[in-house]
Amino acid sequence: MPLFCDVALAVPLDMVFTYAVPPGMEPVVGGRVLVPFRQQRMSGIVVELHDRPPQVKTKKVIEALDLSPVLDEQLLKLGKWIADYYLAPMGEVFRTMLPLSAEFKRSVAYRITDQGRLALHLAGMSGSPARSKRTPEQQLVEFRVLDYLAEREGVREERLRGATRGAKTLLAGMVQKKWIAREDVSAARDAARLVKVAVLLGAEASPPLDGPEARPHTGSAKTLNANQLALIEALAASGGRVPVESLRGLDVPRTTLGTLVRRGLIKLVDEPQCFTTSKLKPRQSPFEFEFSAAQKEALAKIGEAVGSRKFAGLLLHGITGSGKTAVYLACMRQVLEQGRSSILLVPEIGLTPAVAADLHQVFGDEVAILHSGLSDAERAEQWHRIRRGAARVVAGTRSAVFAPVSDLALIIVDEEQDSSYKQEETPRYHARDVAVMRAKMAGAVVVLGSATPSLESYYNAKKNKYALVELPDRVEMRPLPEVEIIDMRQEFQETGQEQVISRKLAEEIRERLEKKEQVMVLLNRRGYSPVVLCRACGKTLQCKNCAVSMTHHKRERKMECHYCGHVERIPDKCVHCGSEYVYFVGTGSEKLEELLHGMFPQARIGRLDRDTVRGREDFEHALNALNEGALDMLVGTQMIAKGHDIHGVTLVGVVGADMALGLPDFRAAERTFQLLTQVAGRAGRGQSPGKVVLQTYFQEHYAVQFAARHDFAGFYEKELQFRAWMHYPPYSAIANVLIRSEKLDDALTWSGELGRWFEKTRHEGIRVLGPAAAPITRLKRDYRYHFILKSPSREKMNALLRAMLAEAAVRKIPRTQVIVDVDAVWLM
Ligand SMILES: [Zn+2]
Ligand SMILES: [Zn+2]
Repeated sequence: MPLFCDVALAVPLDMVFTYAVPPGMEPVVGGRVLVPFRQQRMSGIVVELHDRPPQVKTKKVIEALDLSPVLDEQLLKLGKWIADYYLAPMGEVFRTMLPLSAEFKRSVAYRITDQGRLALHLAGMSGSPARSKRTPEQQLVEFRVLDYLAEREGVREERLRGATRGAKTLLAGMVQKKWIAREDVSAARDAARLVKVAVLLGAEASPPLDGPEARPHTGSAKTLNANQLALIEALAASGGRVPVESLRGLDVPRTTLGTLVRRGLIKLVDEPQCFTTSKLKPRQSPFEFEFSAAQKEALAKIGEAVGSRKFAGLLLHGITGSGKTAVYLACMRQVLEQGRSSILLVPEIGLTPAVAADLHQVFGDEVAILHSGLSDAERAEQWHRIRRGAARVVAGTRSAVFAPVSDLALIIVDEEQDSSYKQEETPRYHARDVAVMRAKMAGAVVVLGSATPSLESYYNAKKNKYALVELPDRVEMRPLPEVEIIDMRQEFQETGQEQVISRKLAEEIRERLEKKEQVMVLLNRRGYSPVVLCRACGKTLQCKNCAVSMTHHKRERKMECHYCGHVERIPDKCVHCGSEYVYFVGTGSEKLEELLHGMFPQARIGRLDRDTVRGREDFEHALNALNEGALDMLVGTQMIAKGHDIHGVTLVGVVGADMALGLPDFRAAERTFQLLTQVAGRAGRGQSPGKVVLQTYFQEHYAVQFAARHDFAGFYEKELQFRAWMHYPPYSAIANVLIRSEKLDDALTWSGELGRWFEKTRHEGIRVLGPAAAPITRLKRDYRYHFILKSPSREKMNALLRAMLAEAAVRKIPRTQVIVDVDAVWLM
């Protein structure tokens, strides 16, 4: 056994740690070990076993937690790639990949010592544990604790305290007296689900035996009775390695196995329950698809790529309502029928109970669904199910890209442009890009699906990095809606006041309601009013943690910061000058709902935003109400625009979807175009195309114009020009380096130091902008400064970033205060 192992620990340090392996312990690469780190014990992943003595004295591994890797070779490699590409500490990457934190919740157990037994014995004779300064009551509790532990092996703290009413301090005192011992219990052991496996000795290294002649140990076979022979043959026929549990099916006495173990022909080992070669049950699915020609062609192309067992990337560009989901499910079913595995990634909001029900209908128990509503323990359970091969179809949000499936054939990323695929904390990975890399490593196929592909993906398809598959028509040839643009500046001039609902939109809504048709209205901002303004001093109410306005929430009677969640009372006077002339300015979705109620008192109106939707069920509940005709109108934020099956809406009003165009973010046009296209796709019922009324303050903006014409290609060409000219992706790699601190002085000093370092460092071809105050200068108490790096070469950019982190370490800038965000999506 090697003498040392390198362990990746989930700490914000860009390094691995070397520990000595005690004799007899067998950690495995990709498995977890428990090690001492600073004053505590931590679990980490073994990345290498070796015999190179390190420079410094090493500590010893406390315990090897896994007998076989929890991260197989490919996932380990993928994790290292993520650490390298996103400049994230490797241990933090592995922690994100493994949803097993529930298994690390270490609990404390107590057991009685010999001294404790003696004390108990003496107490039994004298009626009190021992002479002590404690009160008789305390002594009685001590007696109860000793008595309870004397009967049992290692009792968890909660149980012990529940049974004896012993306080923590009392237990600590007993530990000091050495009557009882306190120890950590590794919950990982329980959760690893070890099973007893019978191994035929001498058969381990040889391939499965396939003829009756090829019986092992033929020499000793002569002396075996019929039962023993039957058992050995069954074992040999299954490759010489079978869980003891499944041998029960043989019609032999239980003692037979024991006899064979004693005779040294079979040994029993503990193994984690994992992927077995159980035969796939053929399943007649009740779910049948009726496909258009374009859908059939897409399915054939994906099927062909999967069949070649080589990496391939496909961009499935299908307009809203073109039936992408049916194509996904059919592809995944094909993969399952071949006995291979697939993963479907969906955006945060995409995995509603209805989608889950569809998946269950098509795949039965073969599907594992990973959604945000799962507890840590449930997540861990799903992980184990996937790993042992009980579920070969996995559907889930971002982190499902790390599902430990074997024989991966296909990864589908639905709505691949969705920003929820980017994790906004360390490691700041993008699940779509990780999916592409995982498929590459596994020789699998990745399908990126969208109605409005990201610029990057469409560009890659145009450059033939991905095959482009188009679904150009809505199912059953339903026509696209007509879009009318309303210029809100003109509306202001003509009516003399700022309007939320234009005259035209009001008229169209009235018309629909009279015809008993349904309406959707989008306003991409939640709350009642986004700004509280003082007319006396002109100041606004800002969050005390962030440099942003607090939003007024009328029904919940509070002011809330949408960035950090801070809540305050509604002010009755200005916090700055005491004036009573405070005004609530602007409109959010809550106020929009109230306005519409006032204008159309008879209409039944529902609202969908983060304030009305707490979980997946609420979201679906509102959509169902709309589909069942229980609502006339649905208002809400971008949530209502996401790809869901809505079929009765003939009018979509857009009253605030262009606000992003005013933000200093180079992706603002792309996001606005995507949102407008998505929400427009909600309009239409049967063969009736529906109508979209698009109110905007940016009438001439190309994002608005192209969205109104349903012209993706036109938008794409125009936006690419802008990106090329400004050196933004896909023409340059970008990274956002954020320096943050609760102390303004530190943030200024550190960003200044790094700014000077960037200036004097030669970095050919790489543009470094900054330091500058971030658009949101203060967030969650931190003052924020940033640099933006743009580089045609990703390698050079990452090399510079690595050098910058080394410089920051030399200057003793804490690693947690320097955030490197490669391929940043959110630049605020
Ligand atoms: Zn004031
Ligand atoms: Zn805040």
